[in-house]
Amino acid sequence: MIEKLKKPSAFVPLALLAVVAVIPFVLPDSQYEEAILITCFLFVIMASGWNLISGLAGYVSLGHSVYLGIGMYTGAILGKLWGVDAMWLMPLGALMAALVAMVIGFIVLRTRSHAFVIITIAVLLSFQLLAANLKPLTGGADGIVVPPPSWAFELGNTPYYYIFFVLMLLTIALSAFVMNSRLGAGLVAIRNDEGKAASIGINTTLYKVTAYTLSAIPFGAAGAVYGQYLSFVNPLGAFAILTSVYLVLAALIGGRATLWGPVIGGFIVAIANEVSTVVAGGVSARVLIMGLVLVLTVMFMPAGLLPTISNRIKRNKESKSAVKFIDQAAIAKQNDDVQIDNIIARSKSASSYAGPILEVKGIVKRFGGVTAVNNVDLTVERGSITGLIGPNGSGKTTLFNCMTGTFRPDSGQVLLDGVDITGDQVWTRAHEGLGRTFQITRLFKSMTVLDNLVAPLEKTSARQMVAGRYSGDEVDRAREVLDFMGLGQFEKQNAAALSFGQQKLVELAQILMLRPSIILLDEPASGINPTLIGKLASVIKRLNDAGTTVLIVEHNIPLVLSLCDTVHVLAAGEILLSGTPDEVRNDPQVIEAYLGPDHLLEADNV
Ligand code: ADP
Ligand code: MG
Repeated sequence: MIEKLKKPSAFVPLALLAVVAVIPFVLPDSQYEEAILITCFLFVIMASGWNLISGLAGYVSLGHSVYLGIGMYTGAILGKLWGVDAMWLMPLGALMAALVAMVIGFIVLRTRSHAFVIITIAVLLSFQLLAANLKPLTGGADGIVVPPPSWAFELGNTPYYYIFFVLMLLTIALSAFVMNSRLGAGLVAIRNDEGKAASIGINTTLYKVTAYTLSAIPFGAAGAVYGQYLSFVNPLGAFAILTSVYLVLAALIGGRATLWGPVIGGFIVAIANEVSTVVAGGVSARVLIMGLVLVLTVMFMPAGLLPTISNRIKRNKESKSAVKFIDQAAIAKQNDDVQIDNIIARSKSASSYAGPILEVKGIVKRFGGVTAVNNVDLTVERGSITGLIGPNGSGKTTLFNCMTGTFRPDSGQVLLDGVDITGDQVWTRAHEGLGRTFQITRLFKSMTVLDNLVAPLEKTSARQMVAGRYSGDEVDRAREVLDFMGLGQFEKQNAAALSFGQQKLVELAQILMLRPSIILLDEPASGINPTLIGKLASVIKRLNDAGTTVLIVEHNIPLVLSLCDTVHVLAAGEILLSGTPDEVRNDPQVIEAYLGPDHLLEADNV
């Protein structure tokens, strides 16, 4: 993104902004034009702010103008109380909006998709009601008159023009900063797949609440000025649902999750709104026209104006250069020279506990009437490759989910290095050294392979969140891990462009970035071609040689029996047997329940 700002594509909007900056000087009698542009700036401020939580993280808020209203009331109430111009209370408006957003965000961000959208509208309407009823403070439905500043008659709109203009620039800068940071990368990961993001160490709650809070700040600051600009603040005006709809429309038209999309969209919506008012008059005609614009956007440009155009340009370029052929066989050649120990190993001091690295005790997990996992005890010895096998539906994935924290077991305990982690969050377990791949790979499909590898976080810290997304040694390590896996040539490919098997290897590479002490692999060999299976087996062996413990769920019995030191057999949610590969291979119960009589032949072929 930083690079993008330097590219010529950023010159266009920056040049346009420079033109906008001098308009009041160039056009001497421009009060009307200035008023329209002030509305444009306001919409850019709001759409860009909204974009931080709803564009980047994908949590669509339809009530975000609540923070504009909070800024308006903060300015009006405190301005009156202290006898100062409301507009100078911008920082307090921003602070108030941020505080309210932090509290509300913490509550509402527990819901998602439709429920989240509806709750955000409810929050907006609640504030409208609150403002109408807190009469001593807000003046109730009558509202508060905000006296104009002393310079208003002399200077007209021009000072407002520059205040909103600067606020707009600051909002765009904030937005660029977030997008370039690890916070921004994490938010995009959350939009792609929140559960996956948590499993690679991203503290999703913290990330979402931070983005939600930051998104409210531009609204609050602008609100304090806007109230004085309108010279009147009342519940229906300050907490208008239509404002929320317009600002969402602005971001959608321009292109959400982009830096300049909400900027372009803000100008389009504000100007279209003005034109439809002039041409068609009344509010209902205006809403009708804006509704039509929304429908057309969603139908013909679902990604928004900016992404649609840039994709078209990119496609033209790509069709001229030959598309790179992905060589299935090349991947099987592993770079044996890569020294993996220092790339992936945890520091030796990570754990001094001598007992089993992972232990589950009496785990029970029910889904309604189904008991998927029933009182399972299981131990994974440090430094081992341990297998977990069992028929489909026997509870293997559910057990993994209990170990990693995706599910809370109904009873039982999970111990990592002897410490009870049953109550820990998914990301905390990732930080503590528990890495996990999924049965159906869950890479971030909108990201490149390299970005997928840079996304995992070994810890959460404020410094980490504000750091540039490619800062630190992650990129170098990611390249080394990719080389180790033989995936180096794919770093710039989109994750979605890889074959299923390649994606599985990338997912394993992604987990290695966490320097896990134990890796849980859920059916790593299913659906991948035989060449890659051989490759996978050698990777697992080398990781294990380097000190990583592996717990592997797999239906490929020859693979499991050849790799593992110990194998646990699960049937109908219960442990049937735990033993060495030989014990498992020869156990009559296991043969009957799972392996079938032919397995001996297969095992000989490995
Ligand atoms: P395996 O991985 O061994 O094939 P699973 O752990 O996926 O088995 O499933 C075990 C049982 O739990 C199955 O009966 C499955 O239908 C049920 N199950 C798994 N996940 C859920 C869920 N999220 N909701 C309801 N039932 C589930
Ligand atoms: Mg499964």
